[in-house]
Parts: sequence; C-alpha cells; structure tokens
Amino acid sequence: MRALTIVEPGVLELGEVEDPTPGADEVVVEVGACGVCGTDLHLIDGESPLASYPLVPGHEFSGVVVARETLSKDQPWGSGSRSTPTPTVALAASAAQAERTCAPATARSV
Ligand SMILES: [Zn+2]
Repeated sequence: MRALTIVEPGVLELGEVEDPTPGADEVVVEVGACGVCGTDLHLIDGESPLASYPLVPGHEFSGVVVARETLSKDQPWGSGSRSTPTPTVALAASAAQAERTCAPATARSV
C-alpha cells in the first residue's frame, strides 16, 4: 500500500510499505482522511525523543473498518463501521498517513 514515510528527520518519502497487521483487539481501518498536527511536525523535525525511524506518521484520522479478525466476538465493530479513533489513545499505534492503518478497538468513536 502507499504511505508517507519519515525516513529520517527531514526526509519524507511517498512509496510502498507492507500492509498493516493488526494486533490483539485492533481493527484495520481504510483511511479516508488524515490530519497533520504539531506532533507530526515534531517527528519530521526529529524533535521527539521517543521516535524510531523510519516511521509512518499520522494519528488524527477517520476511515472505515475493513478487518477485525483479532477482536473477540463481543466487540461491536464490524467491517464497514465508520471510525475516528481518539487521537491520544491512537497516538502510539497509528500510522495513518497511509491507505490503511491499525487502531485499537478501545480507541474508537463512530
Ligand atoms: Zn495530534
């Protein structure tokens, strides 16, 4: 899939990356829109001590759930559910400057 990657501070590349693999209790979201916020700019500038490069930025996004295989059956998410994950909860897990990303099911809102 296509994604924007920060290869190293100050170096951005639009190219192909592996499709995301959801962890336990995560859904895969087809990204419809993704914002660029101050955190992303700090990542581009190399100002985040927690960043490990290369990385795909983006944690403020919305889209549609396209896979939910790792969720238990009692989770309400189904394919086609609209999703706008809570940015602060999704911050660690998301890489939404891409066609698809994973989001924790606990970070959901519809
Ligand atoms: Zn943000």
